[in-house]
Order: sequence, then C-alpha cells, then structure tokens
Amino acid sequence: MPDIINLLPENIANQIAAGEVIQRPASAVKELLENAVDADATEIKLFVNDAGKALIKVVDNGKGMSETDARMCFERHATSKIKLIDDLFHIRTMGFRGEALASIAGVAQVELKTKKSGESVGTLIEIDNSIVRKQEQAAAPDGTSISMKNVFFNVPARRNFLKSNAAEMRHIVDEFTRVALSFPQIFFSMSSNGQDVFHLESGSLKTRVVQLMGNHYASKLVNVKEETDYLNIYGFVGKPETAKKTRGDQYFFVNNRFIKSPYLNHAITNAFKDMIPRENFPMYVLFIDLDPEHLDINVHPTKQEIKFEDEKIIYAFVKAAVKHALAQFSITPTLDFELDAKIQQSSAISQPFTEKDRIAVGNTRIYQAFTQKNQAHFIERSNLNYPDTGNAASAAAPDSREPFTPELSNQQERMEAPSRKPVGEKWFQFQKRFIVSENVNGLLVINQQHAHERVLYERYSKALKQQPLPTQKSLFPATFELSAADTALLIELLDELKLLGYIIEPFGKHTFIIQGTPSDFSLGNDVSMIEELLEEYKHYNQQPDFSKREKLLRSFACRHSIKQGYQMSEKEIKNLIDELFGCSVTNFTPDGKPVFVELKYTYLDEMFGK
Ligand code: ADP
Ligand code: MG
Repeated sequence: MPDIINLLPENIANQIAAGEVIQRPASAVKELLENAVDADATEIKLFVNDAGKALIKVVDNGKGMSETDARMCFERHATSKIKLIDDLFHIRTMGFRGEALASIAGVAQVELKTKKSGESVGTLIEIDNSIVRKQEQAAAPDGTSISMKNVFFNVPARRNFLKSNAAEMRHIVDEFTRVALSFPQIFFSMSSNGQDVFHLESGSLKTRVVQLMGNHYASKLVNVKEETDYLNIYGFVGKPETAKKTRGDQYFFVNNRFIKSPYLNHAITNAFKDMIPRENFPMYVLFIDLDPEHLDINVHPTKQEIKFEDEKIIYAFVKAAVKHALAQFSITPTLDFELDAKIQQSSAISQPFTEKDRIAVGNTRIYQAFTQKNQAHFIERSNLNYPDTGNAASAAAPDSREPFTPELSNQQERMEAPSRKPVGEKWFQFQKRFIVSENVNGLLVINQQHAHERVLYERYSKALKQQPLPTQKSLFPATFELSAADTALLIELLDELKLLGYIIEPFGKHTFIIQGTPSDFSLGNDVSMIEELLEEYKHYNQQPDFSKREKLLRSFACRHSIKQGYQMSEKEIKNLIDELFGCSVTNFTPDGKPVFVELKYTYLDEMFGK
C-alpha cells in the first residue's frame, strides 16, 4: 500500500486557514485598520467599493516596511509583534498572530505599496492566491497602502455566502466605528464607491463619540473616569434618557481592543438599574486599561472575547464607576426629556444661554453684557468691552464661551445641585404622595417615599460608620422564632443591627428576644418589622456584588421609609426637605429611583407660548 498523507500546497492551506480570520469583507477591514494603528499611523484612510466585495483599500502614514518585511508579512505566522510565548502576556498591539495578511493574500488579489520614512524608494508587491505575481521597487509616500480586490475570487463557495451589499456594509461600518472610537487621536476617513462616509479629524474621545454616533449625544454624555493601581476606566455613558429599545450604541474596550462581554454589559446595565425602563439599553463607550499580565487575549481571532484574571473585580469596578458617574453628575430627570421633538427644537430649549446659565453666571460681570433676552450667541465680540479683570469675567469671555455649550454641561449639572434646594417655606403635600415646592429654577415635585428612602439610607450609613443610632429599651421584650436559614442570617447581622438601634439576642435555638428598638422609630410591631427586614435583605441577597452593609442599609431605608398615603405634618415636611438637601446625593434613591422632578419656569413659559 502506498503512503497516502500529503502536505497541502501553501495556497490551499492559506485558503482553509483564512476561514478563521477572514469571514467577510468587514473582517479584512478590521485587520487592515488595526495593522495601520499598530504601525503608529496618525492618518488612516479606508476605501471600499461594493461593500468591500470589489475593493478594500487602507492607506496609512505609519512606519512602513522594508523590502524584506514587505515580502515576509504575507507568510503565515509572520509577525513583528511577538517573539516569545511570554510576549503573549504583555501585548500592547492590536495584532500578534501574524495571520491576517497571509489569510488576505490567500483569498484575494492584493497589492501592497510601502515605504519606510528615510528611505528613498519603496516596495510594490502583487500577490494573489498566495502567489507573488510582482515584486519591485516603486515610488511611494511614507507609510503603507494595501488594497485587496475581489475577496474570495478563488473560493466561489465562500463568495456566494456573502450577504447583500447593505448587510456587508453594515458590518464594515461597525468595524470601522470600533477602531475609530478606540483611537480618537488618529485621523480616520472612510469612503464607499467614491462617496465620503466618514471624515474624522483627530480630537477628544467625546468629539469622536459625537462624530460617530450623532450630535444628539453632545449634551447627553456623562463622563466616567476612575483610576486605581490595578486598572483604570474611562469613557462615557449616555444619560438615562438616551437609552434605546434596541441594543445599539454599546462599546466596551479593554486595552483599546473592542470586546463583547455580556457579563460586563450586565454590570453597566445594573448601574443604570431603575433609571431606565427595564427593556431599554443604555448607551456606553467605556475603556478599561490594565496591565496585559492580567489578561489573556489569545481566545479566538474573531470572537472578540478576552479572559480576565479576575472577572469579578472588573464587574464590581465597572458597575461602581458608572454608578458613581451617574450620581456625581446629578442626572435628574427633568420634564425637558419628555417633551416632544417640536418643543425640544424651540429656541428656549435649544438656545445655549438658558435660565440655568443665567443663574450660574448671574453674579459675574460678564452677565451685564448679556442683554438681549439672554441670547449670548447673538452678541458679537466687537460689541463687548471686557475689562480684563477678575477671573469670572475672563472665564466667560466670548472667545471661550464654553460654559454655554453642551461640552461643559456636566460641570453645569454639578454646579447646579445645590441650587436645586427649595427656597422659601412654600410647600404642600399633594395626594399624600408628593410634596410640591419651589426652587430657583422652577417647581419641584418631590416623591415623599423616595425622598425619605434617600434620607434614611444616608442616616443609617452614617450610623454604621461612625454614629450608632440611639436605642430605646423594650419594656416588654418580645420573642420570636425563625427558620434555621433565617436564624443563621439574623445571627450574622446582629452586630450591625445594634448599630442601627435594634438590640436582639439569641434566646434558645431558633428563638430571639428584642431587647431594644431604635428610639426615633415608634412603629408598633417590632417582630413583623424584623421579619420584613429579613425578607428585604434576602431580596438584596440576589445582588451578589452588594456588601452585607449595603444590603442592610437598603433594606432598612426601604422598610422604614414613610410610604405613599402617609399624611405628613408641616414639621415632617420641613425636616424631610432639610435633610434631603443635606444628603450627598439628593436626586436618586439608593436603588436609582428619582426623588424629585423639576418643572422649570423656562419650560412653563414655553408651554404658555412665550
Ligand atoms: P500581525 O498584525 O498579527 O502581526 P499581520 O498578518 O496582520 O500580523 O501583519 C504581519 C506583519 O506585517 C505585522 O507584524 C507588521 O510587522 C507588518 N505590517 C502589516 N501591516 C502593516 C502596516 N500597515 N504598516 C507597517 N507594517 C505592517
Ligand atoms: Mg495584524
């Protein structure tokens, strides 16, 4: 019997292997763009014809290749990015497998033109079906240009699997968007059949996000930024009102690599919990940077997955960072967000200098200059004389009019928080549910239960940290019995409960005795209160990333808060408002429910046609 095993010819091996890396035109786009990024280009241009089926061309001004490298780069496993297996855990480049160009050359007609800066002449190579057709010196600008024509021309079965141009184009735009988002400092452009699709000047991440996802995000982005020794997170989340019914604008990058992670997506969604309707998806563009040692990116060339050394840390961190950002920037739902498009576009809403701004700068000298109905943007610089004295005036001078553009809206919101506090002593309870009051911006409608939850949460949090709540000794200590599981749970909580004013002692196997209750809390049935607290606590137990303390705080705030239907006295209303606006966060309950809405006077005027 003759031997039957052959080595496959290189071009067939490449075609088979290409299936892993190049599944559709968009995969080639991704690989070529990433190569240009890895080559330190500052300008990267993408051209496609026929949704990439006829042509994909990427031109960069990066470091280029020598003549030998230009020939080498098409070999399988040819890479300049790693040498030793250990390097795999220190990767800072996008590529490292050395397979992309070999795969591309195996399934298309490729032309490469490249020149290193400082060299007088470049190299031209033509290769198709993995066979070099031409290699010669050629005049070329610094950098690299690669075009691939007729992808899968030699693998008809795969060519037939390509989708419609519209569908393939969507994939290409997706890949382009991901790369362009991760590198806002690089200029990117894209054109399709000769038509400009994107032209993205280098700039800030925020600008890049708005360029790619639309202007409507300009004033709707919340800055996320936290730094630790282990990892940094930065980027933006959309304000709650930008959440959509479809999972669209969600981007997560780890060391600039786009990844899909349902787990981390869950962390972000969780941070938005109760701020957006359940079936909506928040917008986010978030970057995590950490030492590559804590990562394994070698999962699969196209799966967009990576493995973290400790995924739980990342989860908790992402969630906390997003929550913190949302709280810090006081994302209060105001009625503006519910307006229909017509009103949104009206001048009172869209003009940059609003009532809010007027208050913010009301005390500054510059304010005097804004005469004409606050229309700052109509005032020419030459019409204004700014004595260059005082920081306030120069900060608001017209050539630096940022305070009135959406760019700085986050800061405005931060400034605004204290100004939300009601003024005067005008308030009344409404429907035993709401307290209506007034602040400098307009009317304030406060949800009494939510407000009280916030107040209690902060009060109890202080009690656990520094200042235990006073206890009132029970005259007739009640006893109660629990199941084995609840017994264990309660025993675990006894110390903290003491700080919160409950003195409970074990009294037999599954029995407890209540020796004291919080003295500021005078509700009859202590036993059922304890049982309810345990129930609530168990509910929060389903949140694995809450600490024991957090679960207890939330259960207490929730259980002890005054409810809808409770008639409040004048004094109680006053105390509630005073305490609420002394809290570190005023506008959301710990669970993220809004505490109040603001009905702005500017909005009311608008409604009445002013
Ligand atoms: P990888 O990116 O995984 O190293 P590729 O097949 O994509 O593998 O590229 C092979 C090599 O070719 C790269 O390691 C790099 O040295 C070189 N190369 C590819 N594209 C470019 C480019 N646009 N500019 C400069 N060098 C490039
Ligand atoms: Mg590559």
